[in-house]
Amino acid sequence: MSRRKSLKLVAKRPSADVPRPSRVEAEEAVRTLLRWAGDDPGREGLRETPARVARAYEEYFSGYDADPVALLRRTFEETEGYDEVVLLRDIRFESHCEHHLAPVVGRAHVAYLPNRRVVGISKLARLVEVYARRLTIQEKMTAQVAAAIDEVLEPKGVAVVIEAVHQCMTTRGVHKPGVTMVTSRMLGAFRDDASTRREFLAMIGKLGGEAGGFA
Ligand SMILES: [Zn+2]
Repeated sequence: MSRRKSLKLVAKRPSADVPRPSRVEAEEAVRTLLRWAGDDPGREGLRETPARVARAYEEYFSGYDADPVALLRRTFEETEGYDEVVLLRDIRFESHCEHHLAPVVGRAHVAYLPNRRVVGISKLARLVEVYARRLTIQEKMTAQVAAAIDEVLEPKGVAVVIEAVHQCMTTRGVHKPGVTMVTSRMLGAFRDDASTRREFLAMIGKLGGEAGGFA
């Protein structure tokens, strides 16, 4: 992927040109949905719900206010020549699908092959959270996490695998509990070099029976 294309992928805030409604308007929209569900927003149990939902949205979607590029920019160059894979495995995240606003809960595995510079390991978890706390689809989130690392750290390679359960599939629609969606994005050495890719897949336990067509 070209650097130019990835820059677009890591854009700070997709809605920069869309004016934000007031809290009063947001709460009124929740009342509308409650009526649409068939209930009475005026009854006691629902009276505080619009305010609670508005606050919950601030938490679910806090990723819109975060800048993934700034997050990764503080890097460390004293790596004593370390040039092996850096992997953060099993980063749990909660997101929401952009098609149904339904929860998506999963785990991300994020690796890169440093090119002199490394980033504090907690930043990788934070990066996943930034993109998870936006409306998204899993394919896009996977590509965005990989592109941001590629863009800022300019490593020799980036690998991202995300496994997640989509509640829009498990609690509605086709009602298929127990299915997990797996997406991956490999850049640089992880894409071009089969042994580097295999090393990563082995590290996250995806090599062997379960690996599917990964390796
Ligand atoms: Zn959905």
